[in-house]
Amino acid sequence: MLKVLVSGCLAGRPIRFNETSVPVCSPIWEKWAAEGRLVHFCPELAVGFPVPRPAAEIVGGTAAGVLDGAAHVREVDGRDVTDLFRLAARRALHRAVEANVALAVLVDGSPTCGSSTVYDGSFAGRTVPGRGVAAEELQRHGIPVFHEGQLEQAASLLEELERNDLVAPDLPLAERLPRP
Ligand code: SF4
Repeated sequence: MLKVLVSGCLAGRPIRFNETSVPVCSPIWEKWAAEGRLVHFCPELAVGFPVPRPAAEIVGGTAAGVLDGAAHVREVDGRDVTDLFRLAARRALHRAVEANVALAVLVDGSPTCGSSTVYDGSFAGRTVPGRGVAAEELQRHGIPVFHEGQLEQAASLLEELERNDLVAPDLPLAERLPRP
């Protein structure tokens, strides 16, 4: 049975920066939970961020730039947390590979988990198209990332993969892990 990596704050735990969770009300989600497919993981908590914590945004570029050393992640008070966000992304990838997930469903808008939008780095509440750092790392290593509004698309891909006895990423596990 193929597994799905999901943001730890989806459907329950109030672990986001502002001590909230993101509700999910969907028969697809309930079915996946009953089948034991869900692998909950919060990359930010995995590297020691507390709850609550200051808001953070990608500044001066994209998540790809953060991974490649060309952009930063800063908290609202200016603290540079780029290295921690890179580490959080690596931990998410390791958890995904360890659990052999076929795909991920992550919370959109987050500087870590976002997959279609992120905040623009101005801390003014404006969003732009883009990914969070962990979502970018997962995509780079062949793990498709959906957001919580795309459960039907994610379920379709999962069904197709199971019907064809495939795992989404066709790279060997070792090649999906980040280089040291
Ligand atoms: S890092 Fe991801 S899983 Fe953790 S609280 Fe933020 S959106 Fe949720």
